[in-house]
Amino acid sequence: DVTATKGNEFEDYFLKRELLMGIYEKGFERPSPIQEESIPIALTGSDILARAKNGTGKTAAFCIPALERIDQDNNVIQVIILVPTRELALQTSQVCKELGKHLKIQVMVTTGGTSLKDDIMRLYQPVHLLVGTPGRILDLARKGICILKDCAMLVMDEADKLLSPEFQPSIEQLIRFLPVNRQILMFSATFPVTVKDFKDRYLNKPYIINLMDELTLKGITQFYAFVEERQKVHCLNTLFSKLQVNQSIIFCNSVNRVELLAKKITELGYSCFYIHAKMLQDHRNRVFHDFRNGACRNLVCTGEESVNLLLQCAFAQELWSFVFTILGCLDLFTRGIDIQAVNVVINFDFPKNAETYLHRVGRSGRFGHLGLAVNLITYEDRFNLYA
Ligand code: ADP
Ligand code: MG
Repeated sequence: DVTATKGNEFEDYFLKRELLMGIYEKGFERPSPIQEESIPIALTGSDILARAKNGTGKTAAFCIPALERIDQDNNVIQVIILVPTRELALQTSQVCKELGKHLKIQVMVTTGGTSLKDDIMRLYQPVHLLVGTPGRILDLARKGICILKDCAMLVMDEADKLLSPEFQPSIEQLIRFLPVNRQILMFSATFPVTVKDFKDRYLNKPYIINLMDELTLKGITQFYAFVEERQKVHCLNTLFSKLQVNQSIIFCNSVNRVELLAKKITELGYSCFYIHAKMLQDHRNRVFHDFRNGACRNLVCTGEESVNLLLQCAFAQELWSFVFTILGCLDLFTRGIDIQAVNVVINFDFPKNAETYLHRVGRSGRFGHLGLAVNLITYEDRFNLYA
């Protein structure tokens, strides 16, 4: 099981005491799975290509080894962290500064769209770690202002985005300014061909980490009912009365329909919360938290983006297992079927494409529960299916 941590502690990595203090002060008690995989390997100097979901702690997975490997008495640029946007650059440098709070490591952010002159001025001061977007850093390297001959580590965060046509040429040219024995760490949520191709050309015997499970329909019993639009609520009501559903997640295709259905379900006498993309993140988090604590039986939400929202609202891996555990509270009265944990997903509106379906109903193979998916399909849906 790739999500199970190895039970490592940050102490196990023999980090500088000052760095360890920064980690604990940031509130990290123990490494997350992606950190357990990456940190020890990165500390050996090996190249890495790592894939893990959003919210699993990738930033610290590369910031910690970067901070550890920097020699703070050597006032040269030793690490570059490439990111696709200015916001992410600022956020990442903030993480570096917090983790490195007790170290004397100078972190500088440099991105396009800001004054080049200011960057040049700032580079007269000692800088150990540079966080930024590829174009600007290449610019500074070409001008000879940013000296990269001792920059032995290059991190590419959100590598899939960094390898878009917009950035890739700059990155390839930037690599030429690095020493030959440089270490490259690539982090990404997906491994498209661009990433694979880049890995083959630039990484040296990379250590591949893949903590993403493919979504699967294995173990999920899928039901469908052909209904007319106006019968859907009645159908749902029947389902609720026939099955003793403890908690379920019900998907609709629009924000409007989510609100309407939640109201109807409440009117039918079942407790119901809803989450959709037009709600503020804070509000969504609160609703989800309450749902998680059993404050209500049903959660109505919009398409697969809701699942993503649920995923992002906390430390994701736990949440995934949680989503699939709450879904596991359905109690099937049927003929002594011994089902400890059944997951119920109801597609009140049938998803418009297969991918969405997989996102709603599928789940990663690592959670070995049985699943139940109920789909309400209309004439129009059928028409779309065969189209
Ligand atoms: P990713 O880049 O994988 O999407 P982030 O690096 O942004 O994820 O981390 C997501 C959240 O998890 C952040 O709020 C971060 O502070 C927190 N986090 C990271 N590592 C740990 C840890 N070891 N223990 C507790 N929280 C952590
Ligand atoms: Mg990230």
